[in-house]
Amino acid sequence: MTTTNKTKWVITSAWPYVNAIPHLGTMIGSVLSADIFARYLRLKGDEVVFVSGSDSHGTPVAVAAKQQNVAVEELATRNHEITKNLFKEWKISYDNYTITHNPTHIRFVQEFYLDVQKNGYILEKEIESLYCEKDNLFLPDRFVEGICPHCGFEDARGDQCDNCQKLLTPLELKKPRCVICDNTPEIRKTKHWYLDFPKLQDRLKKLIEDNKIIPQNARQMCLNSIAEGLPERAITRDLEWGIPAPFKGADDKTIYVWFEAVLGYVSAVKEWADKIINQPEKFDYFWKDDNTKTVYFIGKDNIIFHLIVFPGLLIAYNDDKTEKEKLVLPYNVSSTEFLMYENDKFSKSRGVGIWIDEALELAPLDYWRFNLIYNRPEKSDTSFLWSEFANNIKTLNDVIGNFIHRILTFLNKQFKSTIPNRIRFDDLDKEFVTRLKSIGNLVGELLDNFELRRALREIVNFGRDGNVYLNNKAPWHLIKKDKNVAGHVFNLCAQAVYALAILLAPFIPDTSVKILDYLNIPEKLNQLSWNSINENALKQGHKIKVPMPIFQKLEISELKEELSRIRKNKEKQGVKNLVSYEEFKKLDIRVALVEKVEKVPKADKLYKLSVDLGTEKRTLVAGLAEHYKADELIGKKIVILTNLEPRKLRGILSQGMLLAAVEGDKVSILTPDKDLPSGAKVE
Ligand SMILES: [Zn+2]
Ligand SMILES: [Zn+2]
Repeated sequence: MTTTNKTKWVITSAWPYVNAIPHLGTMIGSVLSADIFARYLRLKGDEVVFVSGSDSHGTPVAVAAKQQNVAVEELATRNHEITKNLFKEWKISYDNYTITHNPTHIRFVQEFYLDVQKNGYILEKEIESLYCEKDNLFLPDRFVEGICPHCGFEDARGDQCDNCQKLLTPLELKKPRCVICDNTPEIRKTKHWYLDFPKLQDRLKKLIEDNKIIPQNARQMCLNSIAEGLPERAITRDLEWGIPAPFKGADDKTIYVWFEAVLGYVSAVKEWADKIINQPEKFDYFWKDDNTKTVYFIGKDNIIFHLIVFPGLLIAYNDDKTEKEKLVLPYNVSSTEFLMYENDKFSKSRGVGIWIDEALELAPLDYWRFNLIYNRPEKSDTSFLWSEFANNIKTLNDVIGNFIHRILTFLNKQFKSTIPNRIRFDDLDKEFVTRLKSIGNLVGELLDNFELRRALREIVNFGRDGNVYLNNKAPWHLIKKDKNVAGHVFNLCAQAVYALAILLAPFIPDTSVKILDYLNIPEKLNQLSWNSINENALKQGHKIKVPMPIFQKLEISELKEELSRIRKNKEKQGVKNLVSYEEFKKLDIRVALVEKVEKVPKADKLYKLSVDLGTEKRTLVAGLAEHYKADELIGKKIVILTNLEPRKLRGILSQGMLLAAVEGDKVSILTPDKDLPSGAKVE
């Protein structure tokens, strides 16, 4: 399947919800796998645009915002920025990592749906829906949980059952409950707009059958789902947060998130073309060319959405378009099984798992990237095991790290850091050169077939063969008799070191850059090509640099201790209790002048203060009597919180709160250190 011509690719990874920081399972399930594939294609010289983003309109973030009592847009934006930066630190080479709450996407989605409606695929229906009386809210998909009607799973969500993967609607759930207040919702009537999937069914079936590239398990899952009959699916929902539905009479509705988030694959390329590279024509160039290959890296729970829902939308949209206007249908999906953590499910609340921010504090990035791909859950669920992590990094170090270090230090010491001449080839040399010349194609073919795990393992095997060749030739003995014979061996081994730098580049780019630097290669990684792997990559006489060991051993017990230390620190900093800027802005804090101070009868600690706020006078009750004499306070400018609910203390209505610093039994009232008028705002 290796192609010689430049191919155009749109590479995508599934859109993570913005309600939380991703964990290692999300990383391997879509993001990292897609990155490795995109990096490989670029090295091969293909044209690639690699996009994804945060799914900001999902109900999970709306639920989280309600539970945390923050504005949902603010929570979404904040989490998006954190995730985006973490992906950068993980060296995920997105051309555009955006968020679905962006103007390009919102406009694109609205226009897209109006086209689909014009093409006759939208139905309007009055339906019954679950409504929570306590929260005054219709309960779309994830706002409701209950028992799965198919498998009896207790915690099935309103959109899908996590246990049997079946798509659900909230009304199908047995014993439904509101996720915000846990009460049983009631049924109410509401109007909604639906996509007419039955009308698309035959064409979707043909699409799946004709596509010979999608993996067998995904094909079967889709065909089963089509055979059961595709239901009409709601496009709109009664949720405030989201893209406003563009249909007439749907003013208070938003667009169902799964239907718009998948369109982000299209709009993210549009945003990239319009706003990032400023070449708007590149959008059509990628998305409206039949030869473009679009690939979706996803978890197994996402197959139906990417091979039925998304292409269904594209087919409905393309209906009235000319060949040149049509959006290209999916070329392939690469889906993974789930990653577990020590044979348990990742769970933030139970502290089970490792999150991608923590990982970076524990070990170098490449150790994680290597380990995750080395055990990528391709055929069955796999577990992140600490013991395996240590072993995998040991393999990386013993096989690849040591091979490279042996070669480079020997060249350094015995050959003045210069690539020696080659003389004559014996059978061992010939065998090794054959291996060297074919390794690029071998690994490339595995990557072309989305077998990332085997590809990486094949690179490790190549490293093993390098060590075997080196040990068989034993140039450290040869050098005693004839330096040239030893030099010949080191020349070939140095070519293998270069090959490893290129082969590893998609997987562990930092390491690759390090190796290329030791080899003193002037070009940047993105100027080098997959095809540059050969037995003459390094010329005789080329000077290399002084190398350092590339990898270190991992002490797992230390890492585990470090992880619990990180978690404790986070708790101390109260990461969960961050006050948002908007929340802080709600506080009205002002400078006030103390005019009068009186003792409160029968309360030794309390003073009644009369203060002037410039525009009004107020009474405060404050526990200052043991710390200040009355005349120490009179005439002082103090700082008070003015928009606190008034509270009665000892029969006196206190209309604000005085701010003071407190440490043990020391109390010090806050005062501005310059003279400001009463009523001046503190911010
Ligand atoms: Zn189920
Ligand atoms: Zn409720």
